[in-house]
Amino acid sequence: MPDRSESDSRKLLRRLRDVLGTQSKGQDRLDRITHLIADSMRTEVCSIYLFRDAETLELCATEGLRPEAVHKTRMKLGEGLVGRVARTNSAVNTANAPAEKGFRYMPETGEEIYSSFLGVPIQRVGEKLGVLVVQSKTERSYSDDEVYALEVVAMVLAEMTELGAFTSDDEGMRALHRQPAMFRGSTGQEGSAEGHVWLHEPRVVVTNPVADDPLLEIDRIRDAVGQLRVSINDLLEAQSLDKDQVQVLEAYRMFANSRGWLRRMEEDIMRGLSAEAAVEKEQSAARARMEKVEDPYLRERLSDLDDLSNRLLRLLTGQGQDTGAEMPDNPVLVARNIGPAELLEFGRKLKGVVLEEGSVGSHAAIVARALAIPLVIHAGRITSEALNGDHILVDGDQGIVHLRPEETVARAFRDKIAMQAEAQKRYAGLRDLPAQTKCGKTISLHMNAGLMADLPSLEGSGAEGVGLFRTELQFLVRNKMPRRAELAQLYARVMDASKGRRVAFRTLDIGSDKVLPYMKPNDEPNPAMGWRAIRVGLDKPGVLRMQVQALIRAANGRPLTIMFPFITEMTEFQMARSHVLREVHREKSMGHPVPASIEIGAMMETPSLAYAPDAFFELADFISIGGNDLKQFFFAADRENERVRRRYDTLNFSFLGFLEQIVTRCSAKGTPISFCGEDAGRPVEALAFAAIGLRSLSMRPASVGPVKALLRRVDLDEARAVIDDARQRGEQSARPALMNWLSNLPE
Ligand code: PEP
Ligand code: MG
Repeated sequence: MPDRSESDSRKLLRRLRDVLGTQSKGQDRLDRITHLIADSMRTEVCSIYLFRDAETLELCATEGLRPEAVHKTRMKLGEGLVGRVARTNSAVNTANAPAEKGFRYMPETGEEIYSSFLGVPIQRVGEKLGVLVVQSKTERSYSDDEVYALEVVAMVLAEMTELGAFTSDDEGMRALHRQPAMFRGSTGQEGSAEGHVWLHEPRVVVTNPVADDPLLEIDRIRDAVGQLRVSINDLLEAQSLDKDQVQVLEAYRMFANSRGWLRRMEEDIMRGLSAEAAVEKEQSAARARMEKVEDPYLRERLSDLDDLSNRLLRLLTGQGQDTGAEMPDNPVLVARNIGPAELLEFGRKLKGVVLEEGSVGSHAAIVARALAIPLVIHAGRITSEALNGDHILVDGDQGIVHLRPEETVARAFRDKIAMQAEAQKRYAGLRDLPAQTKCGKTISLHMNAGLMADLPSLEGSGAEGVGLFRTELQFLVRNKMPRRAELAQLYARVMDASKGRRVAFRTLDIGSDKVLPYMKPNDEPNPAMGWRAIRVGLDKPGVLRMQVQALIRAANGRPLTIMFPFITEMTEFQMARSHVLREVHREKSMGHPVPASIEIGAMMETPSLAYAPDAFFELADFISIGGNDLKQFFFAADRENERVRRRYDTLNFSFLGFLEQIVTRCSAKGTPISFCGEDAGRPVEALAFAAIGLRSLSMRPASVGPVKALLRRVDLDEARAVIDDARQRGEQSARPALMNWLSNLPE
């Protein structure tokens, strides 16, 4: 690289920094900067376009184009050459701009006389902020060196934008991270929350994009990279890493030792950037590449590089989780993703959780659900927008997040929360009353649980017991297999807290979406239909037996209820049951107390079990319909796939009729039957289930009140008649008829 251009570049950056240091308005600064850049690059035009909103760029300052066009000329992302730079996140360099495909002539700017065009994105770690353009009359391509120099300048502009250097209210320049923003994601867990942002990984703020002494900066970056290498080596030497962790760390080590990475950053420093800004420039380039790469392996590697850059930035700036930033009041955790153990650690301190990634079935979602914390997933790029302490509203029902909301939005939101709280108060009044219908039938309502922390809800919700205790959470949140004694202790505490009320412990339901961190994942083409739940339990009975022993010891002579997940045919149930009986026998022979009574049931989660031989219905002490799984297999619609998971109605007559057949088979044999999928907690669904003969439902604690309130208002025979009529009329679903009937029902 020629020395002269290096020192030119450094001179320009220093002049830019001086502009930042002056006490002037945002617009003045922008104007001076365009002048400085045009002068230094010896071009007639220099313009800065900044994003007005996520889709629109606005000409915010120019040297050389007509001043009247400033704040008037706008273009959409992808529109014209400027829009192309922003969309593709890469430079456009052309000697003859008007001849370029996609060129759009903006008459108000007077730019038609300029032939050559060089535009580079102004971006900061993946966040698009704008476009920097230089233009000249002479028809010439800019050299690689010039492109590079402009990219370095754009990096400094990005940091300056981030620091709010161009903000001022009079010109309508938007302050970054101050405007209201809305994110439309998906529901991970219903519920609403208002609070303040608590970033899982706070943004690193670079206050010194330009440095005076490149040699000093090079020392700093070499030193930080050295520390990074040592820390990765230390991690690699740690015990108990699994194959995947080793693979990720190996990739980290490869990048950290890559000469190219360090060399590029050193070159940026020689151009005048500080060590931090040089890391960010590399990180931005990696993010831009990540957006374009389809290959999942390469994406993973680029995301490793991204992580590594973050670590390096934290080393350089000393910023990070442990910088003493305090958790705000009513914290709402905002993160790209989070592991279940960490989320559990924050626990109910959090008012809500917003993730950029995640899925309905992810472990974090399972924990959020267990903790009843509103969760929105796939919330765009919220981690780049949000700052610690920002006001935030989480609407888990709609999957919407409002960041720094307008007061009117906040007010409407609070009204909604108040209405919900009001309703909860009304439900609390019903707590000690039975879910008895107008026609005198009583439906027993139970709750689903999975954590010790759920148990207090048993008192508050008015549930009769725990219809489903998902035991896998204790396995998911650890990094090694829990020991029998630990489990026994936990189960005993659950039973103590339930004060003699029935708790149906479901044995480990892993596989499918629930992969234990310490169990080798199976590369299955379709894990939901793969080696999961009782299939794993029967093939590897050691864990099943250990869990059963823990349950028997926890019961310590008290009654015990166990059920097996995902039973698909009778023999599976017989085998699983005999494991339990064998363990009871073994415990007895060892002189340990055995349960006073033991109920062994099966979860019906595959259609096949509905057609099992009569002997199955006779043998099972009870059956619990796992509607979430049963429905996904009945409709062949993946419960985790946003596109299809809500596509088919539970009250579709084909499914409702199928459920009724199950109820009929159970009543013929006197087998108690209940329903414990999410649908049981939806009042209209619960009503339909009761109308077709289900007398026991298990749901989230918060649903017990609304379901009970509705059941107490209805006559099940009438509801049944409404359903039958609709079926006879040939309707597809019972829902419209039921809704119509309910709307005319007295309060
Ligand atoms: C179900 O499938 O309905 C169920 C209750 O189990 P899980 O949601 O844990 O799979
Ligand atoms: Mg299930």
